[in-house]
Amino acid sequence: MAKENMTPNSEDEVLSFLEKEDLKYGKNTNAPIETKKVEPVNGLGQAVSLPPTSTVSGANDNYWKNIPLENLPSRGMFYAEGSELTIRAATVSEIRHWSTIDESDILDIDDKLNFIIEKCTRFKIKGGQSWLTWRDIVEVDRLYIIFIIHEITFPEGQNELSTKMECTQTCSEDGAWSDDVKVKSNMLQLFEMPEEINQWYSSQYRCFEVVSSKLNETFYLYMPTIGVIERLRKRISEAKSQSKTIDKSFIKVAPYLVQDWSKFGQPEYSTLQSETFSWHLNKFTFVTKFAELMQGSRESAITTVCPKCGSNLSSSIFSSDSFTIKDLFLISGRLNELI
Ligand SMILES: [Zn+2]
Repeated sequence: MAKENMTPNSEDEVLSFLEKEDLKYGKNTNAPIETKKVEPVNGLGQAVSLPPTSTVSGANDNYWKNIPLENLPSRGMFYAEGSELTIRAATVSEIRHWSTIDESDILDIDDKLNFIIEKCTRFKIKGGQSWLTWRDIVEVDRLYIIFIIHEITFPEGQNELSTKMECTQTCSEDGAWSDDVKVKSNMLQLFEMPEEINQWYSSQYRCFEVVSSKLNETFYLYMPTIGVIERLRKRISEAKSQSKTIDKSFIKVAPYLVQDWSKFGQPEYSTLQSETFSWHLNKFTFVTKFAELMQGSRESAITTVCPKCGSNLSSSIFSSDSFTIKDLFLISGRLNELI
């Protein structure tokens, strides 16, 4: 897991869910949460319109590629039956926007990732008229989808990303094997469902159904979507701008309590927060531990197999021996490789 080499963020108000994201991108910027978040330019109707023509990768013009949901880090377990996710290559105008990314600002990284997801994905229920939006995509799937978009944007390997991998065994004549390895989306390890939690997964409801005879209650927990995280960030930033105290114990569990991001405004945030105060202590503890287990199951690793000895190797995605997030859509080679 990425957190090992990171210094914990000392900023008091940086909250665990969002903090984990910072670590994922190898950032520890103490970025203030109250930084204004730029609203995405386009609304929800975006997914329906036809894509502009790509001049980056001629082979993929107007080409929407289906992503099998079972390949996603979430294995598609939280999407409605028959959901269909298609992606296309990023265009020059999108890459221009990406090029302004400020890699020291976690909120800007978040915005730019969402921008690419918004522009380059279509999400719908197969055969139906019912369009989902990019905000309905589960957040743990986001980086994987970004990688696939990167791959189809540069189909001839014009922007290969590589990372230094090293075997932990002394497995070749001159010591441990190490090499620069080209990174492919299927090498990413981003999330593994905790075994302890699996028992509450409901394939019918596409979420977690917790039936407690002890508490005489059934409640539901959800996999956080991009939309829920976006709304939660907004709620936190509003609360901070009004000098309200942030209830950290609530923020930690909130992403798992909201089913529909579109119904998570300020009133709902307050209602839900006060509701948690009436919970039985066991329920509060359960949900807190649930959130911790889920957070602990997020990774940002690249995995490969040592060609000499077959050991499974893993390294952090945005480590110092690796590429940065900006390199995903900006060719990272030297100038003369470009022309
Ligand atoms: Zn080895």
